[in-house]
Amino acid sequence: MNKILFINALGNAIIYLIVYKSKKVDEMKDLLKGILNFREKDYYTHKELFNDLKEQQKPHTLFISCSDSRVDPNMITKSLPGELFIIRNIANIVPPFRKSEDYAATTSAIEYAVLVLGVDNIIICGHSNCGGCAACLMSEESLDNLPHTKKWLELSKSVRDRILEDKTVVDKGKREWMMEQANIVEQMRHLLTYPYIAEKVENKTLTISGWHYIIETGEVFIYDKVAGEFKLAN
Ligand SMILES: [Zn+2]
Repeated sequence: MNKILFINALGNAIIYLIVYKSKKVDEMKDLLKGILNFREKDYYTHKELFNDLKEQQKPHTLFISCSDSRVDPNMITKSLPGELFIIRNIANIVPPFRKSEDYAATTSAIEYAVLVLGVDNIIICGHSNCGGCAACLMSEESLDNLPHTKKWLELSKSVRDRILEDKTVVDKGKREWMMEQANIVEQMRHLLTYPYIAEKVENKTLTISGWHYIIETGEVFIYDKVAGEFKLAN
């Protein structure tokens, strides 16, 4: 590398570092500002509610959504703290019930919500442009550098196989949309493999719903079990 090129490269690297670092500092500053803002405004608006919640929670709904930063369960349902017990993971997946000695984050949260908190409803909320669902449709090798994600998405492999079997769908966007919706229905089925959930659904003391949230429009399509399709909530 000649001297001028080297100086240019070094200059670009320094600029990049300064911009990158200051961006990170700004992000943290904004979050800290947010904490103060919350305490001064929103907290005061709901001060009584927070006081009521100080010793116990009684959420009515277990909300299982994707970890995606664009999905905000409380915002899209206009609900308040104490209403939703929330599980978030990649592609809003529910592992089928199994007796296991593993560390089971999603399964233990379901167990707690249903058996201890006694929620009345479970909502599986998928969303548009879901990276997890899109990754399910990619070649398995493409996830080799993300071994835990690859393993986790195996739980939706049967959905992936069904979508890819349908050769009439060639459009990538349409295929991903179908994957997202079929994945929601699959997770609703997985919930019924939990004996205590199946029993409560049978006794009509627990409902299971499937939602498909569209990021750019704010719309939610709800799964109609009788029609076997998602319909716009309105
Ligand atoms: Zn997602």
